[in-house]
Amino acid sequence: MGLLSVIVPCYNEEENIVDFYNEVLKNEAYFKGHDVDFEFIYVNDGSKDKTVEMVKELAAKDKRVHLINFSRNFGKEPAMYAGLEKSKGDYVAIMDCDLQDPPALLPQMYEAIVNEGYDSVATRRVDRKGEPPIRSFFARMFYKLINKVSKTEIVDGARDYRLMTRQFVDAILSMKEYNRFSKGIFGWVGFKNKWIEFENIERMKGETKWSFWKLFVYALDGIVAFSTVPLAFASLIGVLFCLLAFFFIIFTIIRKSLYGDPTSGWPSLVCIILLVSGVQLFCIGIVGQYLSKTYLEVKKRPLYIVKEEI
Ligand code: UDP
Ligand code: MG
Repeated sequence: MGLLSVIVPCYNEEENIVDFYNEVLKNEAYFKGHDVDFEFIYVNDGSKDKTVEMVKELAAKDKRVHLINFSRNFGKEPAMYAGLEKSKGDYVAIMDCDLQDPPALLPQMYEAIVNEGYDSVATRRVDRKGEPPIRSFFARMFYKLINKVSKTEIVDGARDYRLMTRQFVDAILSMKEYNRFSKGIFGWVGFKNKWIEFENIERMKGETKWSFWKLFVYALDGIVAFSTVPLAFASLIGVLFCLLAFFFIIFTIIRKSLYGDPTSGWPSLVCIILLVSGVQLFCIGIVGQYLSKTYLEVKKRPLYIVKEEI
């Protein structure tokens, strides 16, 4: 008998735990027919509501339900990693608790792996219906930018919802970096990947856990994790400014010797100093981003700390 592990990162999702479970189990008959059993791994990412109690109640009724309870909120990335580490399935799915990742797609995804020979089946939403326009705009810009600066393909609208083979999961687990950006990691490991598209579904209950600021920081993490182009960009600006300065020196010397023009125009000087120092700080900031990530990486802190496991 095969096993399908469903990993569910949860942060304050008390209202969704049971609905999610029921919705996934609507596929039970299909998977039973294919000799595949379910295993649920709920990862409680330091929720402040009754998420843990709800999962414990489910686990008491159904032996297939497991809980990993973090000691605090570590973020969705560590939660997914913890779930992947714990999963025993031949097939592993990562799904959001809020039912934005339609469980009805699971049979279709399973078939793509078993019959068509894919190693992973990923999902992407084709629209961003129901999202604030500003957020969509910045999200689109981010995907354009990161695909320009990174060799790893990062697909616009891609969700973390995907079904993977054991081999694919082991490849993900072998990437033990501290600054995790799954959308890049999934692409980086390679393998044969199929995309399934669906229209955006709004969150069932509760509200999004991602503020604009949190998303912005996550986007920066993604760029730093999957590209070193910003560093090269800093050097390039440096070279350009040196060249510019060189021409100005020549220009000033010639003007002085031909016209004896005393150096005038301190306003332009102020502008130049401000511009150049601004660019310098910007570039130091870029270097600082990479340095800070390296700093966190070399500390080798655990990705998460588990308080209890069921
Ligand atoms: N999540 C988490 N830790 C966090 C933030 C979110 O485990 O710090 C979980 C959350 O419970 C949900 C999934 O990640 O199952 C996606 O979060 P959300 O639906 O808030 O994001 P959105 O769909 O708005 O991008
Ligand atoms: Mg959601």
